[in-house]
Order: sequence, then structure tokens, then C-alpha cells
Amino acid sequence: RAKDEGGGEHFAYEPMLHAHAEERRKLEYSLRRALENNEMSLHYQPVVDANDEHVVSFEALLRWNSKEHGFVGPDKFIPLAEDTRLIIPIGKWVLEQACIEATNWPSHIRVAVNVSGEQLIEPEFASTVVKALSSSGLDARRLEIEVTESIFLRDANVARAALEQVIALGCTVALDDFGTGYSSLGYLRKLSFSTIKVDRSFVQGAAQNSAESLAIIRAVVAMADSLEMTTTAEGVETAEEAEMIRELGCSKIQGYYFGRPMPALEARAIFDRAGRLIA
Ligand code: C2E
Ligand code: MG
Ligand code: MG
Ligand code: MG
Repeated sequence: RAKDEGGGEHFAYEPMLHAHAEERRKLEYSLRRALENNEMSLHYQPVVDANDEHVVSFEALLRWNSKEHGFVGPDKFIPLAEDTRLIIPIGKWVLEQACIEATNWPSHIRVAVNVSGEQLIEPEFASTVVKALSSSGLDARRLEIEVTESIFLRDANVARAALEQVIALGCTVALDDFGTGYSSLGYLRKLSFSTIKVDRSFVQGAAQNSAESLAIIRAVVAMADSLEMTTTAEGVETAEEAEMIRELGCSKIQGYYFGRPMPALEARAIFDRAGRLIA
């Protein structure tokens, strides 16, 4: 070990770790400048009503095309943004952009924005939402905030209070990726979620005839019904899966089958005035 050999150059003896830390440092350096360099954009993925397949909303999904690193996936840069608190300015920009873009859609189409725990527990969170709504002119009822169960792990009361503030404004809150990670049914009593998003892993499991996945989706739908919440199935990729999900009683469907996340200009063009998908 480096320490035993008395070397101060600890990292030199752990080349893998060093390479990883170096890569991360470079990524962070670029991420710090990503907004001002116009490298961030939002893509929008349609969510459809399970019964009539009309678009009801779009989920805003952040994309980063870095000059230095090319396309970097959110699964890579969002955790980095959270660790470095860059998620605060980035998340603010996402909220503002998504609200502006939604004003270009028919008024019954809503927009869903992912929000990290770090953003929620910022004292400024609710006022950031108020500003995004007022500067865009978007009706609060058209904005849904998506959070995951992880927000209840730390500062649960602060997170809940922040969400209650945006609910008071007229926004709704969805519980994203339900069933992964730290699921506890207790979380569902703590807040008036309007929607539970059933994680893609259960949809894929059910499509492969996993009895457990089927049972879990059934249970989530039954529970959501009795709590007066709706369900959205994530990650529906085929007509068969869409049919299965409809039969299981999920209210809404999101997935590549109905549309991939797409640039704002494309999203504007995919539905007619009635919100029907233009084939
Ligand atoms: P999420 O909120 O659960 O978003 C759904 C993810 O599933 C998206 O991945 C979407 O592209 C993908 N997806 C949708 N339909 C299908 C399908 O049919 N098949 C498959 N295989 N995948 C599908 P994406 O865009 O890579 O985002 C990953 C995660 O990054 C999101 O998961 C969310 O947790 C986070 N994220 C994205 N944008 C933001 C943001 O603006 N703020 C924050 N805090 N997190 C974000
Ligand atoms: Mg989401
Ligand atoms: Mg999700
Ligand atoms: Mg996810």
C-alpha cells in the first residue's frame, strides 16, 4: 500500500481509482459550464391515456451534449450534479424551460418535471416553481413534479413540506420509479401523490411472464385506486405490453412504443389539437 511505503503519491498506486477520479473531475469541470455553453436541452416523452391512447402529458428529460465529452447520459451526470449541488441551477433551468415549452402545447396537455431531493430541500424550491410558472404563464395545474422514494431517506419532513407547498399552488406530484430502491408503503401515506409511476422493471418482468412482476403491478394498481391515485406504467415498448398494461388497469402509459423522448420542436408536432397522436 502506498501508505506503508511512505509515499505521498497515494493515487499513483491505485491507477484505476485515479483514472476514475480524474474522469469525474473533468466531467464536473464541463458540467459547471454546460448551461452557459448552451449544452443542455430538454427532450419530451409522451404519456398516453391507457384507454384511448391520447397524449395527456409529456415528461421533460434532460440531455447534455458536451463539447468535451459528447452525449452524456442523465444516469451519469445527474448523480454528479447532485453531488456537486450543480443540480440547483440546472434544475431551476429545467423547470423554467419545461414550463415555457408547455405553453406551446394544447392547454389540456400537461408537463412532468423530474426533481431531485437536493432541489426539494433548498429553501428556494417553492419560489423557483412559482417563478417558472409566472414567467412562462403556465397554469400551475398543468405542472407535475416527479420525485422518487429516495427523497424520504434524508430530510423527509423538509421534502414533504416543499411538495405540500407546490401542491397548494395547484401542481401535482408523482412518485417515480415506484418499487425500486427503498420502497415503503408508508411513504404513500405521507403525501398526496396524484400518480404512482410503476417502474419499467416490473413492466418488462410482466411481459416476460414473471408472476411476481404481475402480482406487484396488480397490487400497485389496487392500492392506487383505493388511495385515489392514478398509475402510469413506464417503459412500455410493444403493442403486447401496452395491451397487458391496459388489462392490468394502469391509467396511463409511457414508453418507446408510444414515443421516445424527442426534441421540443418534434414534440409540438406529434399531436393534433385534440391531443390525438398523429400517426
Ligand atoms: P425517469 O424519470 O424514470 O425517466 C424515464 C427514463 O426511462 C428516461 O431515461 C427515458 O428515456 C427512459 N424510457 C422511457 N421509455 C422507455 C422504454 O420504453 N424503454 C426503455 N428502455 N427506456 C425508456 P433517461 O432520459 O435516460 O433518464 C434517466 C433518469 O435520469 C430519469 O429517469 C430521471 O431519474 C433522471 N433525469 C432525467 N432528466 C432529469 C432532470 O431534468 N432532473 C432530474 N433531477 N433528473 C432527471
Ligand atoms: Mg421521471
Ligand atoms: Mg421513472
Ligand atoms: Mg428512473
